[in-house]
Amino acid sequence: MFHELAENFYRTHGGVDYLGGSGAHQLAINREKLWHGLSLKPGDISKINGLKRPTEAVLKEYSIKIKNYMNK
Ligand SMILES: [Zn+2]
Repeated sequence: MFHELAENFYRTHGGVDYLGGSGAHQLAINREKLWHGLSLKPGDISKINGLKRPTEAVLKEYSIKIKNYMNK
């Protein structure tokens, strides 16, 4: 989360493009490395613990909502 916030801050307020050695992604990684206690994998999105797969009923409900939205 912090990575994405930092990255998008560079992009929206710094006029920095996403890619490259001085791009927003790398600058966000560099900033993560300044933490007290390092991120295990700077720049990576890791698995969210405890997140469960939605039930089939919920998936069906969302599928219908998305289908209805796309038909508007
Ligand atoms: Zn990134």
